[in-house]
Amino acid sequence: MKDTDSKTSPRCPACGAETYRRHCKYVCPAHGVVMDCADAFW
Ligand SMILES: [Zn+2]
Repeated sequence: MKDTDSKTSPRCPACGAETYRRHCKYVCPAHGVVMDCADAFW
């Protein structure tokens, strides 16, 4: 599995919290999905 690279996940633009990757989306623990991988490829 490639779930160990979570340290490279981007920050939430709203609160700066570290997001986590879920399938093809980046999810903020406070705001939910903040980014879609189709949106921006970090
Ligand atoms: Zn947030």
